[in-house]
Amino acid sequence: MFLPRSVKVKRTPDEDKSCTAKKHKLSSGGSLLEETTEFQDCKSVGTETSASTYSLSETVQEHTEPAAADLGVANTPLGKDNQNTDEDGSLEEPIKSFSKSQRWAEPGEPVCVVCGRYGEYICDKTDEDVCSLECKAKHLLQTQAKEKQLRSDQCTDSQAEAHLLNTPYFYKDHSFILGLQDEQVENLKLQLGIAVQGQQVPRPIVEFEHCGFPETLNNNLKNSGYEVPTPIQMQMIPVGLLGRDILASADTGSGKTAAFLLPVIMKVLKETETPSALILAPTRELAIQIERQAKELMAGLPNMRTVLLVGGLPLPPQLHRLKQSVKVIIATPGRLLEILKQSSVQLHSVKIVVVDEDKKLFKPPVLVFVDCKLGADLLSDAVHKITGLQCTAMHSEKSQVERTDILQGLLQEKYEVIVSTGVLGRGLDLVNVKLVVNFDMPSTMDEYVHQVGRAGRLGHSGTAITFINNNSKKLFWDVVKRVKPTGTILPPQLLNSPYLHDQKRREQQRLKQLQSSLVTGDNIMDIIKKHNKNNSQR
Ligand code: AMP
Repeated sequence: MFLPRSVKVKRTPDEDKSCTAKKHKLSSGGSLLEETTEFQDCKSVGTETSASTYSLSETVQEHTEPAAADLGVANTPLGKDNQNTDEDGSLEEPIKSFSKSQRWAEPGEPVCVVCGRYGEYICDKTDEDVCSLECKAKHLLQTQAKEKQLRSDQCTDSQAEAHLLNTPYFYKDHSFILGLQDEQVENLKLQLGIAVQGQQVPRPIVEFEHCGFPETLNNNLKNSGYEVPTPIQMQMIPVGLLGRDILASADTGSGKTAAFLLPVIMKVLKETETPSALILAPTRELAIQIERQAKELMAGLPNMRTVLLVGGLPLPPQLHRLKQSVKVIIATPGRLLEILKQSSVQLHSVKIVVVDEDKKLFKPPVLVFVDCKLGADLLSDAVHKITGLQCTAMHSEKSQVERTDILQGLLQEKYEVIVSTGVLGRGLDLVNVKLVVNFDMPSTMDEYVHQVGRAGRLGHSGTAITFINNNSKKLFWDVVKRVKPTGTILPPQLLNSPYLHDQKRREQQRLKQLQSSLVTGDNIMDIIKKHNKNNSQR
């Protein structure tokens, strides 16, 4: 069915303004009465009637046949609805056969999808605007061609997919790389800051094309803006593609993620057992970032599904997805353990494990001391917001249950930072704390010694970082005396402080006085003489 966007009314844009056409986008299933256009007081159509509905007349048939035949497409049959309109058909314009007889569209008017003229009709098969039978036929041809192409693309895609899955992938040095002299390779590595240890480490690649990746993956790299590999990628990708174990280190932002993701993708592509790879990341944010990058690189590759297992998001959807034959798990250790404990999920099909930023993963917790409850709450929130680390505050307002939970969390490395008032300063053996920060210097040396003593218990070494300012000036000399013998380099502001020198001088004077009042072999005669003199004077 070929439906009018509006009833044919010969009308130029500046014709009778009292005649207003209300246009409806027509639905092919609707009744023709609903589908036609309403006119109000439409003098220009040359009718006195107040009839407000019009429909297509038999003239459509006349024009349909030659136009469709010319273009070699099936005739556009008129629906039954279209044939009942003879009564007022005389009022109508015949449907335009040819595009050239249609006017150009005014701003805001519908436009023919084929030629850009006034899109007066709606093609019922596609719901697109067309200007004439000619363009409708062309439009249908185009649509059919597109559908055919899509079907053949899908066919080619599935063939390519089958090919991709059936062809084994082995990494070997590209001929360009093989053609380089040893000195050239060493020079390249030197210039790029690549240092390697290990046996028969393959040469670095220079371009992604040297890896022989499938076209889809090469395109994904380009789409992500990865034109050339970064140094860590140049060296790590061939080693990973060979399936070797790697311990790699490079600066933040140097492209490490793609350096491990690309070999992982190539390795799991043909794996049938799922999950095939596990990527552990220390923080939720990093895990999310890795998954995003993985999805970008995997786009269009067959059966490559990922799951993100991180805390802070509901667990059931993550568990559900984990069970949907996912190839790659990206997880934080805490959430992964939680899931493994709670469910029957097993990881024996996992062949590749990547631990991203292992230093962060196993970093012992930090204990920060402040001097008030509000300070503990505020600092804990700020540290969490700024660094993303798992933080909590500990002070006397926490209930016993909360305190126990926090201490357990600290021991189980659930918390990376605890900000505490003096309540954690004494007695407790927090064996895994290696770093204490005295954010507020305690008011007494006794307290200070207990607090720094929380780091490095049971003979382990630990570190304390102390912030000190003039609020603690009375302790300057005591702190220096206590800390200097450990070999710690003290800040010049402290060492040069007049308060410190004043305290030092007073102490020396006190010592002198004390010494002079003590009886020793050296001063005994002086003391006797002084005593005699005083007595004789009396
Ligand atoms: P990463 O060190 O893995 O966190 O990567 C840092 C940023 O560099 C990320 O935004 C990556 O998308 C981007 N990146 C990684 N490899 C390349 C590359 N070869 N070319 C351009 N950008 C890259």
